[in-house]
Amino acid sequence: MDRTNMTEAPDASGTADPDAAPDSDALILAMTLEEKVALLCGRGFWVTTAIPRLGIPAIKVTDGPNGARGDGVSGASAASFPVGSALGSSWNVDLIRAVGQALGQEAKTKGAQVLLGPTINLHRTPLGGRNFECYGEDPWLSGMLGAAFVAGVQSEDVGSCIKHFVCNDSEFERHSISSEVDARTLRELYLTPFEIAIRQARPWSVMSAYNRVNGTFASSHAELLRGVLKGEWGYDGVVVSDWGAALETVENLNGGLDLEMPGPTRSRGPALVTAVREGRVAEGDLDDAVRRMLRLIARSGRFTTSEPRAEQSLDRPEHRAIARRAAIEGMVLIRNRGLLPLDPALVRRLAVLGPNAAHGQIQGGGSSAVFPHYQVMPLEGLRQGGNWQVLHAPGCFNHKYLPIPAPGMLSFDNADGKRESGIRLQLFNPGEDDPVLVRGVELTFNPMGGLPLNMMGGKRVQPGFTARLEAEFVPDASGEHQFGLLSSGLTRLFLDDEDLIDNWTAQQPGEAFFSWGSTEKRASRPLEAGRSYRYRIEFQSSPGVLVTGVRYGILPPQPADLLADAIDKARQADAVVLVVGSNADWETEGNDRTSLALPGEQNALIEAVLAANPKTVVVVNTGGAVDMPWLDRAGAVIQAWLPGQEFGNALNDVLTGAANPAGRMPTTFPRRLEDTPAFTSYPGENGRVYYGERLFMGYRWYDSRDIEPLVPFGHGLSYTRFEHAGLRLSGIGADVRVALDVTNVGARDGQEVVQVYVRPLRPRVQRPFQELRAFAKLDLAAGRGSPLTLSLPPRAFAIWDVTSAGWRVEAGDYEIRVGASSRDIRQTAIWSIADDIAL
Ligand code: BGC
Repeated sequence: MDRTNMTEAPDASGTADPDAAPDSDALILAMTLEEKVALLCGRGFWVTTAIPRLGIPAIKVTDGPNGARGDGVSGASAASFPVGSALGSSWNVDLIRAVGQALGQEAKTKGAQVLLGPTINLHRTPLGGRNFECYGEDPWLSGMLGAAFVAGVQSEDVGSCIKHFVCNDSEFERHSISSEVDARTLRELYLTPFEIAIRQARPWSVMSAYNRVNGTFASSHAELLRGVLKGEWGYDGVVVSDWGAALETVENLNGGLDLEMPGPTRSRGPALVTAVREGRVAEGDLDDAVRRMLRLIARSGRFTTSEPRAEQSLDRPEHRAIARRAAIEGMVLIRNRGLLPLDPALVRRLAVLGPNAAHGQIQGGGSSAVFPHYQVMPLEGLRQGGNWQVLHAPGCFNHKYLPIPAPGMLSFDNADGKRESGIRLQLFNPGEDDPVLVRGVELTFNPMGGLPLNMMGGKRVQPGFTARLEAEFVPDASGEHQFGLLSSGLTRLFLDDEDLIDNWTAQQPGEAFFSWGSTEKRASRPLEAGRSYRYRIEFQSSPGVLVTGVRYGILPPQPADLLADAIDKARQADAVVLVVGSNADWETEGNDRTSLALPGEQNALIEAVLAANPKTVVVVNTGGAVDMPWLDRAGAVIQAWLPGQEFGNALNDVLTGAANPAGRMPTTFPRRLEDTPAFTSYPGENGRVYYGERLFMGYRWYDSRDIEPLVPFGHGLSYTRFEHAGLRLSGIGADVRVALDVTNVGARDGQEVVQVYVRPLRPRVQRPFQELRAFAKLDLAAGRGSPLTLSLPPRAFAIWDVTSAGWRVEAGDYEIRVGASSRDIRQTAIWSIADDIAL
């Protein structure tokens, strides 16, 4: 088994027959300057521009890394796979490849030729708002998994778009911040996942990041886009801007950005035509971008296939199975004091507590969110787990904005006079009394942070449009009801024509809608159960805003003491599963988090439940790191991440032992924020964030500085035990084979992740204490052993030498450290390299 060679590429660059496509040179000759420019601009939010005169079709793209959402307004549901940090925890390239392949199939059901994923930025700070989308903190792990994902997607003749190139590792001032990073750190950490994915799997597309790198917009960065990506790495695909990141007409094109998205164009069009005419952009560079677009269209097969069908929902059993497997393999058993697996014979009464038990979070917020085909919550999954009686109480809240109304809470009469759950939306173009669109919508789930109104009516909706949302609200219970309203655009909420919330005058900028939105305004009213109230929102769009929309929440009256109820149920139960976590308002694209603490009163809830019943498994349902002040007192702790539609089933499998936990941490959980590598430089100031910790990021920091993490990189327990023995090194120079024997010495079948770290003993330049350079996941039946061989290619030893601007292996002794986590090294051996080697 050998999965770690950085340079040998299985060819996954697409199998559509490019010979069936027209000759691109002939097309380029035939195209007018205006047509060339049009081809390099989006036409709509998700489609490129067709040139019918020359038979050049449009391409459709779809987000994203954990599901193929489609346009977000057709309402078509999609398979929801675990998010990046959960996939990263699997450390399983074969599994990630299968997820990628399923996503390629899903993209086709949405009529898309390119899937906008994977996200392979790194967890530089645990506060990063999009950490959940990324695989983890290690560039090799992220690169290998990213390559497997791309290969999977592209095996279906659908392109993958790796993103966001590069140093888009937090969301603070995300459209303008400059990531200030030195050449060695850039090469050895942040560029590496992209390099691995490109060399191994040749993605059809790369997305340039919103941010600047050392002062220059990533979308204009000639040194990185033309020099490194297209030059050194020989990349022949399309560089597409992140949505709205193409801000500089001349610099973008000269820098190597091929395609501006979304459409209609904001910075290209006539401005680019003029720039070419005036010689500020060379026609040769324009033609290169056009050729890349034509290549992409050829790869997709769109020159020869007919217009894709409307978006469909196809809930396939094999996708359910892959989503469940991936969720299981991503769950990390952090701690177990003999409590797990739960024995259904001993547990007669199971308390399933916590705010995320009935309302678990399957994905993060922002562009990666999909409308899932279905979602199995922990409470539901565990009800099927045994013959136990299940008790439930939420214990506390953890919402940031008031909860989105549950299905049925709001309703309206549709055009056929039938009662529908949800709200009636009417969109009006400026100055018109008749709506341009009337539609029923249910905001049970918020793919873009709420209803993305400007996408609802497509081309028909003009800038400056207004909207009215109306429904009937019949409360289930009498008492004080809270209402929340936030929007990107101006809004007012009326209840029975009373002006209840004014988010129109004196609106405050907030974090939702990728930071285009306002803060949430709230109001409360005592309402009567069973009475009908007219609920109405008036909306006015604001000009120049990329995502326009509205989000509304309702919180009905709640029992007086949620905590006491949970404690009471914990006491009555033989065991407790306490599901805590965050939601897609806390962990979302567009905003970083501000703290490692679980939101709301959850830490107090955990302490109280542990005191009431020590046989408590804490299940943490977050996409990123949280602190765990109660870790030592918990009976067991599982990091479940944001595990996709199969959450409840996968959790049930792991808790009952139907599946043996096999996840390993792809990122370090720190004890406290003050211990983290970016603590003194995050989030940045005056438009810059200095990557001042340089190479000492993630476990490279904790290990080099001897800081005890809360949960170390690579850690994860199992219900069985594995022994590593017989470490043997062989090879020549800096090409090394690492062989060992791994045995499952316990009583259950299981999976072990063998991790190989390289530690330079007397480096001439500063280097981290150790770095992950190879890994493999093995399936081993109880009592069985297996030999394993992993490769360390020369890059495993190399540094980026700033003097020669190249990779160089320094002569010297290297300790090869093999183990089950960065802090559980089982065997070591020394490998000596006699001479310096330039790669
Ligand atoms: C995100 C991208 C995403 C794009 C399209 C952007 O805001 O950063 O990751 O693919 O939107 O939704």
